[in-house]
Amino acid sequence: PRIFKSHLPDVPIVATSIFTRVFASRTSTPSGDIGGFPGSNAAFIDGATGTTLTRAELLHLSLSFGYGVQNHPTTAPFASRGSTVLVFSPNSLAWPVALFGCVAAGLRCSFANSAYVARELAHQYSDSGAGFIITAEDGIDVVRQMFAELGVDREEGDRRTIILQRDLGWAGGPTAAVSPECRGLLTLSDLLSIGKLKSEAKFEGPLSHETVYLCYSSGTTGKPKSTHQNMSTILDVMSGSLNDLKLDNANIIGILPFYHLYGLALLLHLSLTLGWSVIIQLRFDPEQFCAAIQRYKVPLAFVAPPVLVVLARHPVVDKYDLSSLEYMISSAAPLGADLVKQVKKRLGAKRPAGAKCAITQGYGLTETTTGTHILDFTDCDSKVGSIGKLCSNLEARIVQDEEGKVDAEDETPGELWVRGKTIMKGYLKNRAATSNAITADGWFKTGDFVIRDKDSFYWVVDRKKELIKYKVLPPAELESVLLSHPDIADAAVIGVDSPEQATELPRAYVRKKTAFAQSVAKWMESRVSKHKFLRGVFNPPRFSAAGKILRRELRELAKQETARG
Ligand code: AMP
Repeated sequence: PRIFKSHLPDVPIVATSIFTRVFASRTSTPSGDIGGFPGSNAAFIDGATGTTLTRAELLHLSLSFGYGVQNHPTTAPFASRGSTVLVFSPNSLAWPVALFGCVAAGLRCSFANSAYVARELAHQYSDSGAGFIITAEDGIDVVRQMFAELGVDREEGDRRTIILQRDLGWAGGPTAAVSPECRGLLTLSDLLSIGKLKSEAKFEGPLSHETVYLCYSSGTTGKPKSTHQNMSTILDVMSGSLNDLKLDNANIIGILPFYHLYGLALLLHLSLTLGWSVIIQLRFDPEQFCAAIQRYKVPLAFVAPPVLVVLARHPVVDKYDLSSLEYMISSAAPLGADLVKQVKKRLGAKRPAGAKCAITQGYGLTETTTGTHILDFTDCDSKVGSIGKLCSNLEARIVQDEEGKVDAEDETPGELWVRGKTIMKGYLKNRAATSNAITADGWFKTGDFVIRDKDSFYWVVDRKKELIKYKVLPPAELESVLLSHPDIADAAVIGVDSPEQATELPRAYVRKKTAFAQSVAKWMESRVSKHKFLRGVFNPPRFSAAGKILRRELRELAKQETARG
């Protein structure tokens, strides 16, 4: 086989608990109590209220929460080392406290999409084997419906629910009141007030291979299990790539959902180790996003392509001074060169000549604990549209058959396989899926088609399973054409079975700004060849919060629509 190595030297593998790794720079006092951090700036800032949480506060509160969960008579039966908890909340200042508190207690955490309805939540709760759920206050109705769906009576369901108050009143202690529906339930504040762990649960050496996070993410593939060591390694790999930016103590914008591994790894873990302050936003709102960049002079933002669409087109962008924003890293979905150029042109127009405005992209999967590739900022103009080179500690292959017997030639597409310490442990309770995805010698099959150019840069061509079986159309190509339409905010193209023609035909789902579905199909006809004409333009019911288009769900929807006639 042709095995490509990273151009970067390997980083050493740290075999500890992810908690120990993240809080590595703390200082301990002789009593075992754990003190401050060098240069302790805010770790998190609530974008709505301005309330801050320092690293030392987070450490203190996490160890307190871990103690509370382990020792409170209600939670203790579900909180032995290795048991699972489900977190169901939009981004908030309390989120990292709950997360690191559970990890400190030796628990495994699974994270649910905060927009889930009861049926979706019930599936994840039982599938992950969770013993209790931590929910934001406004999620309580969905949680109660979830327990009802699972046949758990109200009293028992309430006993397995912890309420995560958004504002704890950090300065004055954990006193926040809860809404009437949540009264009587155990809260984060209750659990913070019992005591404090002397130290976190240890996962040294071989124990660092134990699962810590059960990520359901976009659900496009399965339920990847991520270990302490996967997470520790990715931090070192990513710090290596980002250290050159010299952004110590920078304010970073926190719009990626924490429940998706992209947000979890970069905003909750990497940010803590690199000394950044994360400005937490509940969800992506163009105005709040721009306002926070201006107010906090944000130099770096991790985004997904839909955010760049907003920056290219939304009128609100002109109201704010975004000149501090020197770097943007897009990931999670394909980023076309045209979009990058549009954003750079718009933001660049309001800056002095030569001012930095660099947009790059990373590539990775939940299964690979985020990034396997990143395009260096130094290459982001010459290789715009590429996902960059292979990250350290990884090897790659580009293969053209299921068994990996045929390697692709240079500049020829093939499925990307990767191997290294950041590859997940496997899919939860699904050996067959795990052995389909990971070969006996450790290669993880990404399901994405890439080419590698002569300079070792990789380009995503498409997802293997999503090619439309109509002369093999890559939907990403049609989507990027659609995205250059001035009225389209986001687009997904899928193949829909056509029994008349015994093939699939391309159909678009577009998120629009105005009523225009008809004109989109016409407009496309002047831009693509006949076999690529769209045979239908629809408005999709939803796009995932991570900015990803769930073509799989759209295909299901199209099938149901066809069945209904
Ligand atoms: P998830 O596990 O939800 O993060 O989804 C992983 C998938 O997102 C990958 O298999 C790719 O299909 C897609 N993806 C992530 N980053 C990129 C990128 N930069 N370009 C194209 N596709 C991407």
